[in-house]
Amino acid sequence: MSAYDEEETPFDRYRERVDRPLTRLFVEYAPGRLGWFSAGMVANFVARMASLVPPVLLGVAIDAIFAPDADAAAYSLPIVPDAWLPDGQMAQFEFTVIAIAVAFVAVAVFTWIYGVTANLFAHGVMHAVRVDSFRKMQRLDQTFFDDKQTGEVMAVLNDDTRNLEMFLDNALMDSLRLLVMVLGIAAVLFYLNWQLAFVTLFAVPAMFAFTIWFMKTVEPRYVRQRSAVARLNTRLENAISGMGLTKATATESYEVDRVRKSSRNFFDRTMDVLKLSYLYRPGMELLAGIAFAATFLVGGLWLATGTAPGPLTGTLSVGDFVVFLMLTQRIVDPLAQVSDIVDQYENAKASSERIFGLMDIDVAIEDAEDARPLPDPDARVEYVDVTFAYDNVLGDGDEETVIEDVSFVAEPGEMVALVGPTGAGKSTLLKLLLRLYDVDEGAIRIDGHDLRELQLADLREAIGYVGQETFLFDGTVAENIRYGQFDASDEAVREAAKAAEAHEFILGLPEGYETRVGERGTKLSGGQRQRIAIARVVLQDPPILVLDEATSAVDTETELAIQRSIERLTEDRTTLAIAHRLSTIRDADRILVLEDGRVVERGTHEELREAEGRYAALWSVQAGRVDEPAELPGDFS
Ligand code: ADP
Repeated sequence: MSAYDEEETPFDRYRERVDRPLTRLFVEYAPGRLGWFSAGMVANFVARMASLVPPVLLGVAIDAIFAPDADAAAYSLPIVPDAWLPDGQMAQFEFTVIAIAVAFVAVAVFTWIYGVTANLFAHGVMHAVRVDSFRKMQRLDQTFFDDKQTGEVMAVLNDDTRNLEMFLDNALMDSLRLLVMVLGIAAVLFYLNWQLAFVTLFAVPAMFAFTIWFMKTVEPRYVRQRSAVARLNTRLENAISGMGLTKATATESYEVDRVRKSSRNFFDRTMDVLKLSYLYRPGMELLAGIAFAATFLVGGLWLATGTAPGPLTGTLSVGDFVVFLMLTQRIVDPLAQVSDIVDQYENAKASSERIFGLMDIDVAIEDAEDARPLPDPDARVEYVDVTFAYDNVLGDGDEETVIEDVSFVAEPGEMVALVGPTGAGKSTLLKLLLRLYDVDEGAIRIDGHDLRELQLADLREAIGYVGQETFLFDGTVAENIRYGQFDASDEAVREAAKAAEAHEFILGLPEGYETRVGERGTKLSGGQRQRIAIARVVLQDPPILVLDEATSAVDTETELAIQRSIERLTEDRTTLAIAHRLSTIRDADRILVLEDGRVVERGTHEELREAEGRYAALWSVQAGRVDEPAELPGDFS
């Protein structure tokens, strides 16, 4: 059963637009791999057919060689011309032994070939789908990632591609096996004795009917079981994260009680499923058993009395009777796969809808067809009447304007600082410059060119970003500094680290520049990560800088080091900076005070102080306690 099924998933919005997803999967990904696919199908077919050979040979041998009234003339096989078969019982016996051995070897060899080729096909498709969807994901707008959790996106790349693989490998091959076995066995039985075949094969439709009944009945129970386990997990997670509160309020027994109830509910729902699902296999075997008993009864009477029972006519040989009894046993296994096949088909359909849904998402922020390059910009940044609202996640059109009519200019080499309370829109203004989002009204220009006319890669290469949260990739310190400037020399990396005042501490790490930083850089402190990020920007050497000053607490010495390196970095570069400590922006060419997305004050530090408005009030608060870590008061962060 799939992990998703009935539940609404974050990708369902995109699914509805995809038509015939599995057909599309084949049309787009099967060509070029059809060789492996056909090889898998053929090998599977041969292996299954070969597995029918020993019982048939046994039946023939009984009638021609072993039975008291055996007659060498009775040695005859389906398909194979009699002229090819040996005369004389001893020769026939040897032929039978060799043929049985060959059949078993063929089953082994072709099962192996089928396994490898079918998987080369299935995993080949899976690999291509994974890479394609990841490539597409790299181009998706920031808006997409704003309302998706990492886990949800991972689920598409992992679970959904795996569902496709299961389908392409197991389900397709099992359906072929089902078809070959049921049709192959039916053909053999009808060839040997069509009248007895009717008696035996009445069980097949009954087994199909039973399977359909089973699937319909068990499905709603599975749904209830899944929601029970989801509730239990939520309860457990919640209880564990709330441990502190639980202890403080002495509500342990209350929590245990809540978990007990959820767990008991899960237990009951699971038993509902298991009672039924353990009925399936025995049920199928019972039906096969009934077919066996009926065949045994009719065939046995036929042999014992020497005349066909009831309305039946003709003769039945002992050998044919044995083949019938053996093959009746073989029908259960392939038929019991039906519910798995249907499941895998449903999962694959839903998964490929999600995958193609992802691949079909329109990308709004892309190079225009005639996008122009941005070589050696002077880096004059201009915001003209910029208005912007984030797309509402609910898509109900109820969007709140986050930036309203903001205009300002940063001449080449100037620094413009943004201050204002949390949520005023400072970070958003910077993200708009990186074109993570497009403005709704107005325009942002670099050297007079609207961002939307520029090649995205050029735009982003021209801008260096040092943010609040520093992300490092798992890899070495040097690799992280070099990220984006992959051919920079070791010397250049060192120089950049020195400029970021990071060289010293890097040398102090166990393996210097070759020290691995751990996933997301967890092995380094916040201040160290930040200096590596600054070194990365020094190496990038962009004409424009975007700084979102960190508020994380670092010791004074580190803070001073970071200050110095940032000051060096901002020289001669056009800089937009968010400042929390006003002391860092005293020398800014222009300071904008932002509130609710609007610029409420603007000017230099001196001008704003003299104006005695909001900035002046803030300044006096911060300047009054210079020896403490200067933080903005109240909701200013
Ligand atoms: P600041 O940097 O001044 O603290 P932000 O630019 O981060 O302010 O946020 C401005 C407003 O936009 C806030 O109300 C915030 O909740 C909202 N906002 C920020 N990021 C997103 C987003 N990705 N999606 C929707 N709303 C957002």
